[in-house]
Amino acid sequence: VARPDLPLPSDRVWTDPEKLAPYARDEASTGKLPLAVAFPVDASEVAAVMRWASAHRVPVIPRGAGSGLSGAAVPLADAVVLSLEKMNRILSIDPENMTATVEPGVITGDIRRAAAAAGLLYAPIPASLDFCTIGGNVATNAGGLCAVKYGVTREHVLGLEAVLPTGETIVTGGALAKNSTAYNLTQLLCGSEGTLAVIVKIILKLLPLPAETVTMLAPFDSVDALAKAVVTVVSGKVIPATMELLPRAAVRCVLAKHPEYSYPFPEKVASLLLELDGMDANLVAEQATAVAAILQAHGAGEPVVATTPARRAELWTLRKQVRDSIAHTAPYVEADAVVPRAKLPDLVRAADAAGVAAGLEQITYGHAGDGNLHTYFWRGTHDDVAWARASEIALTHLFTATVALGGTLSGEHGLGHLKRDYLPLALAPETIALMKRLKAAFDPAGILNPHKVFP
Ligand SMILES: Cc1cc2nc3c(=O)[nH]c(=O)nc-3n(C[C@H](O)[C@H](O)[C@H](O)COP(=O)(O)OP(=O)(O)OC[C@H]3O[C@@H](n4cnc5c(N)ncnc54)[C@H](O)[C@@H]3O)c2cc1C
Repeated sequence: VARPDLPLPSDRVWTDPEKLAPYARDEASTGKLPLAVAFPVDASEVAAVMRWASAHRVPVIPRGAGSGLSGAAVPLADAVVLSLEKMNRILSIDPENMTATVEPGVITGDIRRAAAAAGLLYAPIPASLDFCTIGGNVATNAGGLCAVKYGVTREHVLGLEAVLPTGETIVTGGALAKNSTAYNLTQLLCGSEGTLAVIVKIILKLLPLPAETVTMLAPFDSVDALAKAVVTVVSGKVIPATMELLPRAAVRCVLAKHPEYSYPFPEKVASLLLELDGMDANLVAEQATAVAAILQAHGAGEPVVATTPARRAELWTLRKQVRDSIAHTAPYVEADAVVPRAKLPDLVRAADAAGVAAGLEQITYGHAGDGNLHTYFWRGTHDDVAWARASEIALTHLFTATVALGGTLSGEHGLGHLKRDYLPLALAPETIALMKRLKAAFDPAGILNPHKVFP
């Protein structure tokens, strides 16, 4: 297909190679230049594009903001990119049912702000909050910074409208507190990485907005001690919203990129960023005292505690820059392994061991409270061939250890094409075969986001 004759007005079909280039990549990989990028403005236009694609057997790659970290939104062969960015309306915030109904291209942070204006909380906070879309969050089942207490995106999705690769529209779930009617297609589409259907409308669950929040940053002399402290805090029946591991190497990357930042513990081996929230100020303060005591019993230094929005934002500033600072320091390959929380100290050791086995330096940081850490293995001075081999050794080593710990390959980023080949390490052939049959049931012609998820 030289210049696809897509059924949209010409100003919403781009074919100029310079304009297409950003749509060939996400935050982790670059694929092939798309044949075109299509910008539908409503569900009927998405359906028209999918009917056209189905008739012409042209692959289609749904795309939100392209902030993904697994190469899931990049074309790997001739394909049209279907950008949902113009479908960006918050359709309703419903305080009586405590729901929000939104289009997929809404920036996640805008949903949080709109809910907060009504005294409500849309809970998930991916660190990419200010630029990723809710459609991308649903399609990757994004996690983020407060999943310890609130869970991941999937737990906040009540219903969806989605367009199948054939162009038919389905409605799943609804603005319902309960639903046991037949199969749960809503949850199947959450985390399906744009391979089953194009999500065109989302009904989200909202919660009461917490009245009180306390943020603390506690320094540790060892990552192992920090990991054990995390496990003890949660098993002590206080569930913080956030528990983030910031190792010294990550702090150094951020400070190198942002020398203007101040950080209270730049020389400490690791810090734990922890946040507690709730409705009752006294209760939250009591919990903060109890948690600080547990951390200190595990060897933490005196934590810095912040209760005002301005002071809390200061403690968060550095954490929000970690991923970008690491990614822009040097070439890397990244893992998003997740283990049962109690195995967190073992995951930290497994990441170390994987680096040693591959001969690569690594930084491991992230969502300690979820047992979900991001490990960045640096390329160093390896040439292309040595780097390909070393990165495969590192990932194979880490994923094998993760699975042996009862964990799995991805806690929140998905597999895309960058991790798809490791799937057999995590799932049995029967399970993968069933998933492929599901894919074929949704997408008999195999045109929706092909070459993703499966080896
Ligand atoms: C600095 C930084 C921090 C990050 N922090 C986090 C974090 O804390 N937690 C986390 O989980 N992720 C994080 N991410 C990764 C990324 O932001 C998430 O994966 C996010 O959910 C992707 O959203 P997006 O709109 O950019 O989707 P894209 O990257 O455009 O697409 C991701 C996948 O979703 C599919 N998709 C997108 N929209 C639709 C749709 N409407 N229908 C069907 N499929 C669709 C695509 O086909 C693709 O498979 C971070 C990324 C960066 C760069």
